[in-house]
Formats: sequence, C-alpha cells, structure tokens
Amino acid sequence: MVRTPFVAGNWKMNTTVDEALDLVDAMAEDLEEAGNVEIVLCPPFIALQTLADEFDVENAAFGLGAQNMHYADKGAFTGEISPTMLADTCDYVILGHSERRQHFGETDDLINKKVKAALKHKLVPIVCVGETLAQYEAGQTDEVVTAQVKGALAGVTSEQMYDVVVAYEPVWAIGTGKAATAQGANAVIGLIRRTVAALFDQATADELRILYGGSVTAKNVGDFMAQPEIDGALVGGASLKPAEFVAIVREAARLKGG
Ligand code: PEP
Repeated sequence: MVRTPFVAGNWKMNTTVDEALDLVDAMAEDLEEAGNVEIVLCPPFIALQTLADEFDVENAAFGLGAQNMHYADKGAFTGEISPTMLADTCDYVILGHSERRQHFGETDDLINKKVKAALKHKLVPIVCVGETLAQYEAGQTDEVVTAQVKGALAGVTSEQMYDVVVAYEPVWAIGTGKAATAQGANAVIGLIRRTVAALFDQATADELRILYGGSVTAKNVGDFMAQPEIDGALVGGASLKPAEFVAIVREAARLKGG
C-alpha cells in the first residue's frame, strides 16, 4: 500500500503576519522542490488569508491549515472561527491537539463534532490523539488512544475517511525534546490502523495517513519515516526553523515518497 507522505507544521501561537510571511518566504522555494510529499503549514488564523494570497497557495507545493475551529457554521460564539470561514481560506485543520485538550478542556465528543463539521465543509481534519505522561507510565496508552480514535471518528463514513489524517502525538513528547522511540510510535500507530480497520474496513485503514508528532527534528525524522506504519510527521517547534523544516520534509519524501 503506497500512501503519499504527509508533513504538517504547527506554528502554534507564534508569528505575527509579517513574521509568517518571512517564514514562508524563507522556505517556499525549497518546498517546491521537496519531491513527493504533501506539505501543510498551519500558522495562526490571522496569517492564513495573507499567506494564501501572497503565495498563490492553489498552485503552491504546500497547503495551509488552521490549528483549530468551532463546529458551528456561524453564531454567537465570541472569539471562535467557523468551518465556513476557514473553507474560504485553507484546506486543512488540526483538531484535538493535546494543547486544546489540556488547556481548553476539549473532549472527544467536542472533537468529534469538529471533525464532522470539517468534513462537511471539505476541510481535511488532522485529528490528534495521544496519551499523557501519567497514562503512559500507567501502561494505559493503548486504551487511551483507542478510545480517542473511536471518539473522534464516531459517525464518520468510510468514504469520508479518505479525507482524514490522524496524528499520534504522545503528550509527553510534545515540546519536550523527548521524542518517542520510532518502534514505540510505530506500534501505537499500528494499533490506530487496526482500530480504524475494525471501525470501518481494511481498505480504509490501509489508505489512512497516520503521522507521528512529538519533538520531531531533522535529526530523528528519518528513524520515524523508516517505520512501516508511520506516514509522516506533525512538527511543532522545528516547523518554525525554515532549514530544519525543509530538511524534515525532504527526508519524508526521500524515505516514503517513492
Ligand atoms: C505539536 O505541536 O504538535 C508538536 C508535535 O510539537 P513539537 O514538535 O514541538 O514537539
């Protein structure tokens, strides 16, 4: 089964619009030549439209994604951004990131609503799952991740699953410099694929891109990409360093891009 590798950069709450322009400027040309890999940049909401216009994103080697969204089309939700607003501006959206779960109380039920709303509006959801350090140490990784996958994907059809990307991001590995082992991440991602096969069917599971995220760098990305179940990376800190992000993307293309 050949799955196009996928690398997304999550800039989190970093960069003004000008800084976002500079960051993309610094890597756009190299990304054009990166090879067979789907690339998504997820800047803060406020930079999406400017980047889309400035870099002719319809024809660029990279797509744009948001880092979150509300599930409703519109309404009295002060401060929120809706899927209808995003669909005009970008093609992807990160949902259920552990920082949303931890700091903003997002539950599997809420994330499920957002996933279904994204799919309804033709946005590709990058659905994040992953256990906390306490859950990892208690040996609960498999049950936690399985429950998160089932929760996030409840009511999604197998046809819609072709437009879903899942990211396994152990919370203890995010922003800590302590990445999971490649073998450990591969085992959990294999479990996610088997869970999707049981929920939908084997063909759907075989097509699904599942990323690893958590302290990915240019140095360790090759170890992850060499694993059979891992189809790409969701990159936080290293996506703010142009040369490092380009190197990660190139390595994903070299090892998984055919
Ligand atoms: C993330 O924000 O999804 C992430 C994986 O961050 P980092 O690469 O910095 O660990």
